[in-house]
Amino acid sequence: MSSFKSISGTFDILPEGHTTGGDSIAPSRVWQYVEATIRKVMEAYGAEEIRTPILEPTELIARGIGQLTDIVSKEMFAFERGDTNYVLRPEVTAPVMRAYQQHHLDQKGGVQRLYYIGPCFRAERPQKGRYRQFHQFGLEIIGATDARADADTIACAVDVYRALGLTDFTIRLNSLGDSESRPRYKDALIAYITPFADQLSEISRNRLQTNPMRILDTKIEKERELLKNAPLLSDFIDEESRQHHEEVKGYLTSIGLKYVDDPFLVRGLDYYSRTAFEIESDSLGAQGSLAGGGRYDLLSLELGAKQVIPAVGFAAGMERLIMALDAANLADIPAPRLDAFIVALGDAALTWTFPVAQSLRAKGFKVGYDLKGRSLKAQMREASRQNSRYVIIVGDDELASGVAEVKDMDQSSQTSVPFAQLASHLTK
Ligand code: AMP
Repeated sequence: MSSFKSISGTFDILPEGHTTGGDSIAPSRVWQYVEATIRKVMEAYGAEEIRTPILEPTELIARGIGQLTDIVSKEMFAFERGDTNYVLRPEVTAPVMRAYQQHHLDQKGGVQRLYYIGPCFRAERPQKGRYRQFHQFGLEIIGATDARADADTIACAVDVYRALGLTDFTIRLNSLGDSESRPRYKDALIAYITPFADQLSEISRNRLQTNPMRILDTKIEKERELLKNAPLLSDFIDEESRQHHEEVKGYLTSIGLKYVDDPFLVRGLDYYSRTAFEIESDSLGAQGSLAGGGRYDLLSLELGAKQVIPAVGFAAGMERLIMALDAANLADIPAPRLDAFIVALGDAALTWTFPVAQSLRAKGFKVGYDLKGRSLKAQMREASRQNSRYVIIVGDDELASGVAEVKDMDQSSQTSVPFAQLASHLTK
């Protein structure tokens, strides 16, 4: 056995569920089921898939997300080769916007609705629900300022959760205003916090210099207390943003979607303007953030566009989602099953198995067989481990007569079936 192990904060997804570093990792069929559900919901929103590379220029991420964010300042897996600096993408919004601009998707007219599912990488301290390689799915609606796009984005994330039977989550919503409201608010916030800066944690004290709005994100009770009377962003945002925010809330209310207005929600990424939201699990605890998103009209300019390309989207963690699903949510996922397992006894039968399995597979059947020439009992055990509907048993006698014994594992019955009729027998 190899002495190598997967890197801490990464994990293998196996056919069977397993435990890694105290975390249970769901079997691959659960991931496939969740992915298929995501695709179905995305299609209901008229979204089409975009796949961008794992490797991106570091500068794209640094500019897109912002130098002062945690992601860019300390969580990037970045490296140099020749004169290029590469990064393993820590998120997918900036890459999608890059692709949109690179391929002039705006020239297709109208609005692009693009969704993605794939791995992201952040050099975080691994812990339950927080990994170095994790998976995100998300939707980006690019080309519209309409508040329905913001509401659509939130509704889409919610629909994914609902489609999987997940209902215990809370939507927190805020507006970050435009690019002018935030500096005004930042100044007011700094003025409010500075007198008691020495009572803050080191992290928050640093943030006061670099990214003061992030202090509002604090989970430390004493700091929350100190911030209780802090100025509110909602009092600083421009009139248009305020109106946009009201419209978004109106649309959510019109479909009966409950949300919590949270003036302290600022989100970790720099590129948001106006709408910001987060969907939190009510049951996951510490790593409870299921999804986050918002409007990022100015990202396009940051990436070199000549004009603002309005856009709104969300990104959601697959690991968190799968963690939040319980056995009841997953009960509908069909276990994989073979149509037939061929049990071969004796050398001649082993050889016969190969072309027969191939011809059945060519007709669309899922067929397995034993590769080790084991005993009848061991082969039967393997057939039932693979949940095979039928077992085709062939030994020297069956080869001589051209008739196989076929067990129907669901009915617990056995029939003699001529080789030429195997395929039609399996369809019964
Ligand atoms: P963010 O891009 O930071 O807004 O993250 C969006 C979502 O991705 C979060 O709500 C989480 O569900 C998930 N996520 C972010 N970072 C990690 C991580 N290190 N491990 C697992 N999931 C993550």
